[in-house]
This record gives sequence, C-alpha cells and structure tokens, in this order.
Amino acid sequence: MSSHTNQANGALDERSIPTMGMTGQAFLDAAGSVVNDIERYYTTLPSRPVFPSISPGYLQKLLPIAPPMHGEPWADIESDIERTIMPGITHWQSPKYMAFFAASSTYPGILGEMWSAALTSANFNWICSPAVTELETIVLDWLAQILALPDLFLSKGEGGGVIQGSASEAVVTVMVAARERYIRRHLERKGATDPDEIEDQSCELRGKLVAFASAEAHSSTKKGAIIAGTRFRSIPVHRSDGYALTGKQVRAKIEELQARGLHPYYLGVTLGTTNTCAIDDFESIAEVAKDYPDIWIHCDAAYAGSALVLPEYQYLSKQMTLVDSFNMNMHKWLLTNFDASCLYVRKRKDLTDALSITPTYLKNQFTDSGLVTDYRDWQIPLGRRFRSLKIWFVLRTWGVEGLKQHIRHHLKLADLFVELVKSRSDIFRLLTPPKFALTVLTIKPRDGKSPELAEIDEGDPRPFHDQQVPIELGTDDHELQRANDITKEVYTKLDETKEFFLTASVVGGVYAIRVVSVNPLAEEKYIRRVFGLLVEITERVLKGSDETQH
Ligand code: PLP
Repeated sequence: MSSHTNQANGALDERSIPTMGMTGQAFLDAAGSVVNDIERYYTTLPSRPVFPSISPGYLQKLLPIAPPMHGEPWADIESDIERTIMPGITHWQSPKYMAFFAASSTYPGILGEMWSAALTSANFNWICSPAVTELETIVLDWLAQILALPDLFLSKGEGGGVIQGSASEAVVTVMVAARERYIRRHLERKGATDPDEIEDQSCELRGKLVAFASAEAHSSTKKGAIIAGTRFRSIPVHRSDGYALTGKQVRAKIEELQARGLHPYYLGVTLGTTNTCAIDDFESIAEVAKDYPDIWIHCDAAYAGSALVLPEYQYLSKQMTLVDSFNMNMHKWLLTNFDASCLYVRKRKDLTDALSITPTYLKNQFTDSGLVTDYRDWQIPLGRRFRSLKIWFVLRTWGVEGLKQHIRHHLKLADLFVELVKSRSDIFRLLTPPKFALTVLTIKPRDGKSPELAEIDEGDPRPFHDQQVPIELGTDDHELQRANDITKEVYTKLDETKEFFLTASVVGGVYAIRVVSVNPLAEEKYIRRVFGLLVEITERVLKGSDETQH
C-alpha cells in the first residue's frame, strides 16, 4: 500500500489502519530499522549476559493487562522489544551459549524467514503454490546428497524428504505410519476381508503394539508412542558399550516382548544421543532387523546428522540402508533458522497410506493426476510454512565446502576444549569420549580413588570424535555420590555466574556437565574462557570439599 489512508479504496472503506498495517513507505522505514537492530543485536551479543536476570511473571508487570483498544504507532511497538522482550531472552545465539544443542541462526536463514513470511500461504498441496512444494523436494534431494544418504531416500525413487517442524514431530509422524503399516501387513497375512472384522482386529492389535528404543533415546520417542496410542519400552544401555544400543539387546527385547504376546512395531535408533552423542550400533542392529521386516526402524540424528557433511562420518550415512526413516535438524547445527527438521523416508507410500485423507474440497486435477507431491499427506497438520526457502538460501550461501568448514571449525574448537580438559586430568575426567563437538565431563574428587581419563586410541581408524572408548567409574556408591555432589556444586556455581549457559545431565547414575559450543558465533576465546572458569570454580569447590573432609 502506498496511500496513507484507505480512502482510495472507496467510500465504503472506513478502516483507520492501512490495509497492510502500515503504508509501503512506513514498512520500508520500519523494516530498515528492524534489520539495523537485528544486526546490532548480533554484533553486541557477546557482551550481553547469556541468561536473563528476571523472575517468573516479569513480563506481565511491564505490559498492560488489557489489549490495546486503538492501533499504536510502530515506533512505540518497536521500542518495546528492547524494553520488555530483551530482558526475558536467553541468548541462544551467544557464543557463551553451550547448553543443550544449538538452535542455529544465520543472516541467510533470517532472510529466508522474511521471504517465507512475505509469501505466506497454507501450502498443503502442490497447487497451493507449486514452487513451495517443488523447492522442498529439490533442496531435500540436495541435502540427502550432501549427507551422502543412500539413494533410496531421494525423490527419484520410492522415497523422499519432507520438512517437519521438529524431530519430535518427525517421530510421531513416522510412528503413525509404522503402526498402520504393521497392522495392515498383519491383517493381510491373516486374510481378514470383512470391514467390521478388520476394524475389530486392528483395535485389538493396536493395544499390543510396542515402540522401543534405548534408554538414552530422546524422550520424543516415548512421547510419540503416547500420541500414537501404543506402548513404549526402553532398553538400558551401558557405559561399557559407549551407551550404544546393540543388535543383541534389540533381539533380546523383541523376543521378550513377543513371548509376552506383544507386537514390537517401531524401533528408534539414535545417531548422537542427547546426553553423550552415543551412536547406536547400526551394523549389529541391521543383522537383527533382517529377521523382523515388519518393524519400522527410525534413525534420530536430530543434532549429529549435520556432521554427515564430512566424508569421515559418511560411513554412518551408508549404514542408513538399515532404516525406514531418517531425521536430522538443520536448525540445530547446520546454519538454518528454526524450524527445519528434515525427515527422509524409504517409501513415501508408507506415509501417504497412513496420513492421506482427501475430502472433496482438497481434490484437484493435479493431485488426481498423481504427478505432483502433496506434502500434507506426509505430515500431521494440513497447512505448512515455506521452510525450504531458508534451506535454499543457506545451501547456496555456504555451498558444500562451506558447510564442511563450518562443522570442522566446531569440531576443532571441541578438540581444543578436550585437550584443555585432559591437561587438568587431576580435576576433570571425561565421562565418554567426546563426539560431535559434545564434551561430557565430571569433576574428580581429590582423594585419588577415581579412575583415570578415558584414553583415546590413536591407532583407531575411526575419526577421533567417533571413538567409543568406554571408561569405568568407581563402583562404590558412596564414592559416586560424592563425585556427583561435587560435579553438581561446580555446575551450580558456574550457572550462578550467568556468564555461560551449560547443561548438566545424569547419565547412568553419573552427574555430568555437558559442553557443546556449535552456534555460528562460537569462537576459541570463549572455549578458553569457559574452561578457565570451570577450573577456577572446580578448584574452589574441591578446596572447600577438602576442608570439610578434614
Ligand atoms: N532427538 C535428539 C537426539 C535430540 O537431542 C533432540 C533435542 O535436542 C530431539 C530429538 C528433539 O528435537 P526437537 O526439538 O526438534 O523435537
């Protein structure tokens, strides 16, 4: 809109607010100012405390209880970002953010979001905006090639990729497809033909279906099973296996469930678990899977999947011939703004068989021709955002070589952190060998009883980050409790500084601190600083603990 009022629309138009909320010129000014502010935000990020210093409910004290009765000028709205919103922001893009896993943001990603917003439409089928569907297919095929996934996941065959909102959404989606496929195959074998009989038998079978995964699998697997209305079982994994699920455990669990009259239908495997980035033993699981073709196997590579851009990790991509579906989040470690969770399926028909419902109002000649993809049938919601634009912008800005450099940079930073930790093996130990830029450490009590650091086997042909060297901790409960208390105290004190954001976790009963610095602004000086702070706090805590002991 270029006019200042809506009078040009005719006498009928009595609205006082311009049709697009502001005039075209006002938008240019406002957008220019917002882009300036965003750029300034990113350049000043390192100097902002990573954590907010406010108490719950802070925002209600700053905003009116009642909604605005009349429209406000943009200048008033804009100024409230710094005044009201910023104080309550945890700065995930700060280089001092080393918690959970990262949520990427980059300028090309932001520009993709801007265009996506500009071209807003519901995009549920091809005709909604052909470019939206076609770009998604193209960029997901590009990504599959970049990650060296087996060809069976490319759209030229029976498989293909689709962008979901999150890894959890991907899990629920494929779990529903797995459930329906299992039931269909089972009933086909039983030869049921009468619709009522089929329905009764499906309902009966549903109550016996079990999804299962390692105890270290992300909680979204259990949640998915709840939503899919099936049971869930987890399999304990061990430090001596590097917290990886093995084929032997999978077979034992299947046999145990079947012996109880239950039907395992979905197995979740993980490439890079949340706690320690463990990689399940795909090769041995693949051997077992051959005997159970009805069980759907989904690989959750939400975070670590990004590392598959590097040739040295692509032996893992080859192992994905094992799975029915594979998912990774570009929005975690691959420079793309939230949300960009890329799900690949071996057979797209498995998804559409479970999720396709076509009422008359969604029918059109293109869908009926079968020549186009309607992504609504590959997901739970109907409408969908134009998310492939930001992926397209990112892939074109970095190129494959740029993506490799990006991941390598973070792996190098993590190597540096590990070297620093190893240089103080008197106070720190690695709980597991570092993988995919994640370091998990605990504090060593000073009495010398604790085990030594895990040694990395230099002769191991696999990449440094992928060596699953087990370490054994003391088995004495009292000793473990003491070590846990000390690690927790160090973590709490570090947290109180509000300078860095790390997360702590309990892995197999061991309290540990996770350090993962992989957002685009990560830098060596922050790695050194967080290490320095950890040393300082640990020495203080250990000194205090020594004094209490004596
Ligand atoms: N899977 C793994 C291994 C994760 O680490 C996470 C989150 O960190 C998820 C799944 C859930 O991801 P999302 O937030 O995309 O659902």
